[in-house]
Amino acid sequence: MNKEVRVRFAPSPTGGLHLGGVRTALFNYLFAKKHHGKFILRVEDTDQTRFVEGAEQYIVDCLEWCGISPDESPQKPGAFGPYRQSERKPSYRQYAEQLVASGYAYYAFDTPEELTAKRAAEPNFLYGQKSRMQMRNSLTLTQSEVSELLAQNAPHVIRIKMPADEQVTFADMIRGVVSFDTNLVDDKVLLKADGMPTYHLAVVVDDKAMEISHIFRGEEWLPSAPIHILLWKYLGWANEMPAWAHLPLILKPDGNGKLSKRDGDRLGFPVYAMNWTDPKTGDLTKGFKELGFMPEAFINLLALLGWNDGTDKEIFSLEELKASFSVERISKAGAKFDFEKAKWFNHEWIKQLPVGRLKLAVSSLLKQNGMEANEEKLAEIIELVKDRCTLLPDFVAQTAYFFTAPTEFDSAAVKPKWNTDKAIFFEEFANTLAIELTALELEASFKALAENKGLKPGEVMLPLRIMLVGGKFGPGVFDIVKLLGKEETQNRIAKGIAEFNS
Ligand code: GLU
Repeated sequence: MNKEVRVRFAPSPTGGLHLGGVRTALFNYLFAKKHHGKFILRVEDTDQTRFVEGAEQYIVDCLEWCGISPDESPQKPGAFGPYRQSERKPSYRQYAEQLVASGYAYYAFDTPEELTAKRAAEPNFLYGQKSRMQMRNSLTLTQSEVSELLAQNAPHVIRIKMPADEQVTFADMIRGVVSFDTNLVDDKVLLKADGMPTYHLAVVVDDKAMEISHIFRGEEWLPSAPIHILLWKYLGWANEMPAWAHLPLILKPDGNGKLSKRDGDRLGFPVYAMNWTDPKTGDLTKGFKELGFMPEAFINLLALLGWNDGTDKEIFSLEELKASFSVERISKAGAKFDFEKAKWFNHEWIKQLPVGRLKLAVSSLLKQNGMEANEEKLAEIIELVKDRCTLLPDFVAQTAYFFTAPTEFDSAAVKPKWNTDKAIFFEEFANTLAIELTALELEASFKALAENKGLKPGEVMLPLRIMLVGGKFGPGVFDIVKLLGKEETQNRIAKGIAEFNS
């Protein structure tokens, strides 16, 4: 590639960030990094009616949490600003006017009432080749009528004039050659009555101004591609047009259509990257982060929604993804989202991440639950239980007994077979507990003592666990003994004996 690779993630700041959006950002990021290029965040905020306070900062925070922060953004401008579409407002009209002057677009003066009436009369009404000559626009009005309306500042929009009987054909990096019949595309508005561009005009002007080299975006934008391609051509920029890649959709778990936030609510899993609170209604939608996903797992699972490296490998760090990512291996077919699989990724990551990487998130969760430990103890606890945790909050249940002695015991598992021999054995084990031994040595001495007392080690292992943790769970019981320490273990054994004797 001779031109510098410059790709952009171009969300509209309208609410929570859907995992499909993060996947688009991720693929842009990976492509940029693979080709030593730039990953840009551009905020597409020209639709004032959909603008939501706080949504831009939220998007920035989500990207940061995922570890895919942009090289250029509204917060970190480079030489290609502005990075918010609305701030480029003064420049769009000139391009729209240029298109009118060259015959590729026209002024339309139809009032909203006129359009509503037209749509009511003709339910399938499309403003385009078949209908444009019946409407009030610069194609049907005389030159002087148009000049007069413009001089009076009459409200108007500028529409693209879709050509008749043309095929717009381009090579999509994922889909191969794609063709559109211009007869089936309507005359989209390019500049709105408020002077703001629509998405179609803004996206082309901005991609040109920011020297974007490749466009990776969701498949839902494919129908817009012919309009954008014609605009690149009509504005005289055909030679600088970026390459296009339309990413496969992320589908509902049953494969039946695009995954929406509503599906997540209905099926009980998150769809947004992070918690999102709607500033108008105050409604909170839970995100992957707050549900206890590690960002390493989140980007890993997203990368595999529509891409693989051609092998069975599933666990990829961001560094590995940067190295192995290739457009050729992005699939055309939609990718089904499977929440169980998403959790599997998180479990694998929790198991393999170093304790240092988990410590901050786990300690703050534990603190929220009134559980505090010093650095060293916390590290040991995490190391001991991390294989048992799928989501970060699992650390709370899996470690609670290290902080507070159990008050409830699974007695049903012990009492029926409890007897005085066992009580005597446990008293002696507690009294002679040599905490300086390793967990393995402790286990050996425990078993030796049991045999010495004529008990099978298997019969006393479970009671010990239940005395220490309350139930039949947790890591190796002698690892627990070591972490609890001598006095605490002795206290719990004493309490356990009393419990089972009663
Ligand atoms: N603003 C569009 C969105 O919200 C961007 C589409 C594109 O990348 O061209 O996704």
